[in-house]
Amino acid sequence: MSDLSTPHYPPSSQQASLKAILRMNGLRATRQRLALGELLFTGKHQHINADELHQKAIAANANLTLATVYNTLHQFSRAGLLREVTMDATSNYFDTDTSDHHHFFVEDDKQVLDIPTGSVCLERDLELPEGMEVTHIDVIVRLRKIKP
Ligand SMILES: [Zn+2]
Repeated sequence: MSDLSTPHYPPSSQQASLKAILRMNGLRATRQRLALGELLFTGKHQHINADELHQKAIAANANLTLATVYNTLHQFSRAGLLREVTMDATSNYFDTDTSDHHHFFVEDDKQVLDIPTGSVCLERDLELPEGMEVTHIDVIVRLRKIKP
């Protein structure tokens, strides 16, 4: 589910390519952005919130405050490198897969999962107001585990 044309997605976690990617997306390669970019763009897509990324940064000995992590996530998201996905008032996630796709949200443990492509086809059934077209559809299907 990745669109290779836009935005420029990091193919690896190497600093040189990360610097190039930041520049291509209009961001200066600051120490904070490089440190967090290394943790985010590992080549494997992830859904992560500011707290989780902050914990990872601490584990990686990157000396960054939660506020810096939060600001950087928003800068990446504005530059098109991340997609912000709000699950509820207290659960804001950042998705490294910026392509159009929908999510499951497991409420018990606040886990975010991608819904396989093609299994949600809302566009077909929607009756749109006159003169309007769909720009984007964000579907969040909320789940809880069945108690045995
Ligand atoms: Zn996703």
